[in-house]
Amino acid sequence: MIEEEDARERVLGAVPETAGEKVALENCAGRFSCERVVARVALPGFDNSGMDGYAVRAEDAVVGARLRIAGVQPAGVDLGLVVEPGHAIRIYTGAPLPTGADAVVMQEDTELDGEWVRILDAAVLGEFIRRKGADVCPGEVLVGSGDRLTAAIAGVLASQGIAEISCGVPPRVTILATGDELVKPGDALRAGQLYNSNLPMLAALFRRAGAREVRMVSCEDSLAATTEVLREASRAGGMVVVSGGVSVGDRDFVKPAMVAAGYSAGFWRVRVKPGKPFVFGKHEASGALLFGLPGNPVSAYVTAMLFALPALRRWCGAGETFSTVSVMLEAALTNGGDRPHYLRGTVRDGKFSQSGLQQSHALAGLAGSEVLVRVEAETRLSAGSWVRALVVM
Ligand code: AMP
Ligand code: MG
Repeated sequence: MIEEEDARERVLGAVPETAGEKVALENCAGRFSCERVVARVALPGFDNSGMDGYAVRAEDAVVGARLRIAGVQPAGVDLGLVVEPGHAIRIYTGAPLPTGADAVVMQEDTELDGEWVRILDAAVLGEFIRRKGADVCPGEVLVGSGDRLTAAIAGVLASQGIAEISCGVPPRVTILATGDELVKPGDALRAGQLYNSNLPMLAALFRRAGAREVRMVSCEDSLAATTEVLREASRAGGMVVVSGGVSVGDRDFVKPAMVAAGYSAGFWRVRVKPGKPFVFGKHEASGALLFGLPGNPVSAYVTAMLFALPALRRWCGAGETFSTVSVMLEAALTNGGDRPHYLRGTVRDGKFSQSGLQQSHALAGLAGSEVLVRVEAETRLSAGSWVRALVVM
């Protein structure tokens, strides 16, 4: 049995170097950048007005002043106008600031009087002027390699005249559910049977986490069938995520089948709860990585989050392999066992409380959870303590 961190390190070490592909900015949200983007264009690109109003010399624009309107400066063209003392220039939002102007008085604070404008509220030096480079200066790093891209980042990149960015290429993922007791939706349940919940649950998880293409396959409990589907799955490359059949029962065929199908047995069993029987391997010929998750739905989900999702993120080019938040414990959490325990729970106003049954088959507790909190073996965390929690997707 190996430690969780050791297991994750081995998994991440097996992930291939991320390949890059150009992605249009409109499609980049949720992807990971594999390039560093440095600003070439200042933002704003020139001093301009933040309001529709009048560009003035602040010292002239006192309450009651009448200023002569010497011209109009629209947005989109620089007329090269100058504000002389005692004058104002009619100006619009985003229009280049005339030389000599050091404030803009907004239209609502003025009164038009023919070729004159009366100031109702005094100008403040610099007010409503957006200075060149105040937001972004050329040379500034806008995106680092490994950064998660958002729609807002797409916006700032677009401001640079860029149309696309190089992103990591997500792997294909095959989800494989083993178990003779599993029934597909629409079929009637006979005594002892249950619906296959891991297959769609894990497929949804990997799709949501950014997998390129997710295939779902079910498999009966036999060495021959398991070997065949594992071999077939390796052909697609990427990640193969198997649920069930990784434990010590006579009907658990994943370990012998993975060897027979050409996967190396990387490691088996991790000191973590839930999820001890987790197994990891790599297909020698195709490079596909195999993640053997326990069949119990919560164990499957938690081990997917702890080992397979970090691998997916790394494969996609992510710098950070986890998404975490800081939470405060509403009540004490106790782990009397000899393995670190990941407890499922919700967060309300920053406070964590457990959700539902904390057992490895208890799907409803998992479904009601937002985060996982790790409690070390033989440890009590008191109410009010702050911990980092993993965000459930
Ligand atoms: P196993 O790891 O194959 O021994 O399965 C452990 C437990 O998880 C058993 O109670 C199985 O019935 C259950 N299980 C396995 N696979 C699934 C699945 N795809 N959906 C729901 N339950 C499952
Ligand atoms: Mg089974």
